[in-house]
Amino acid sequence: MSAHAHAALILVGHGSTVNPDSSAPTHLHADEIRRRGLFREVACCFWKEEPNMREVYEMVESEVVYIVPNFISEGYFCQQVLPRELRLDAPVTRRDGKTILYCDPVGIHPNMTRLLVQRADEVAPGVPREKTSLVIVGHGTNLNENSRKVIENQVALIRGGHYGFAEVVDAYMEEQPFVADWARLTTAPNVVVVPFFIADGLHSFQDIPVLLGMREETGAALSEMGVFHQNPHELQGRLLYYSGAIGTEALMADVILDQVNDFDAKHGISSRFSVPGSRLNESVASWLTQGRHQIGEITLSAENDGSYSLRHTADHDRDDLTPFHGAEEAREIARYDDSGKFRPLHSAPTLKRGWQLHVRDLDELRLALDFFYPAAIGCAHALEQEKLSSTPLRELLGRQTGMYRFTNTISDTQAFEMVAKTCASKNCQRRILWPLTPGQPFPADDSKSQPGAIPLLCIEACPHIVSAARKIAKETFEAKEAARIQSSPVAPQLDD
Ligand code: SF4
Repeated sequence: MSAHAHAALILVGHGSTVNPDSSAPTHLHADEIRRRGLFREVACCFWKEEPNMREVYEMVESEVVYIVPNFISEGYFCQQVLPRELRLDAPVTRRDGKTILYCDPVGIHPNMTRLLVQRADEVAPGVPREKTSLVIVGHGTNLNENSRKVIENQVALIRGGHYGFAEVVDAYMEEQPFVADWARLTTAPNVVVVPFFIADGLHSFQDIPVLLGMREETGAALSEMGVFHQNPHELQGRLLYYSGAIGTEALMADVILDQVNDFDAKHGISSRFSVPGSRLNESVASWLTQGRHQIGEITLSAENDGSYSLRHTADHDRDDLTPFHGAEEAREIARYDDSGKFRPLHSAPTLKRGWQLHVRDLDELRLALDFFYPAAIGCAHALEQEKLSSTPLRELLGRQTGMYRFTNTISDTQAFEMVAKTCASKNCQRRILWPLTPGQPFPADDSKSQPGAIPLLCIEACPHIVSAARKIAKETFEAKEAARIQSSPVAPQLDD
């Protein structure tokens, strides 16, 4: 039995409300680790996508929970945002009967070196290393000095590891040495460029190709994997090979596990092998027995052989549905709507139609439901057990930092209007459980309570609300400033 068969692993990613590729690597590494059967449970959560860092605790039942940030470096997110949102006060936090173990981010693990070398070989197969310059690219700027440090460390490790490259250099988008100067920074006839990012996005799809001279100007496409499949590029008398972000490398799953094992060694964590049954699975089974087959836009059916099938409720009488098998397909079905548009909010009533998903048992069914409606099962179970708590909006806004630190300056009236408008504009099917402050609930929306259905519950406002609050706070501040300047007895003059 694995040393972690009693424990849950939670991978934390940044995510995005607009870029579907941002969360993809985190999900894929979680899939790989889940397939290996090393942990009792494997889940993901995100800063900008569902499930959030509050909800993910409702998705796992294990008493021991390892958290690994799928981030490239230490810094603002890993040292401030994640511990705050995950309610961690130390590397080992004991709370609510759970032991939560907060590991280092993947990007700083020494084994990233192995991945970078492997990625260089993959992107330029058969090209001799001694005739190849390896360029590792970061963002740069003072936004996060650690991100530069982590790249410099990797360059030093590869150079010191004598992997045989003609040279290894670091370069940055927004500070020296600039990636745009790649031809001057390198001397070998072949140049391999690897972006040191967790996920592919605008920087790797568009910005870096333009800086390298592969493209003349940025295009409109947000997701453009084709840019990595056109190697080599003949540029400035050299052959340039361009790779996707290092975080998309399949072997990142091993680095995640390395971080867990290193944490155990560093903090003297020993293994325990008692693995209790799943109460969440029992809840799902009992709901189905009670005839509760509906969740959001989905209808569940128990088959005679112990398997389950799921389909869009509006497809109840169709016999031309495309069959899918396995829980991971649920994530892909849920990702885009019928028009191919990214669905960052899973509880929006835009689930695509025309599919039927078959899963082999309760474990797979629960995982599939977590992909369709993140944390819905855990929240519904906790509500039934009268153990579900929610975060008042003022508490959530009050703990924001960085560009969101002013969000809690909105008035109560603005907050009530904003929540009604934002959630209605998304047609969100979740029922809000959080108040503005304890004792100031938001009006109940009865249309969100489908009798007999497994409920979709909102226990903490999502990023759409936080963004809306920032916009209102900013506009209110600017309006007040404009009024103050206008009423000032000595108005500033242009030629002062
Ligand atoms: S805050 Fe509103 S839109 Fe966001 S998940 Fe909750 S109910 Fe849905």
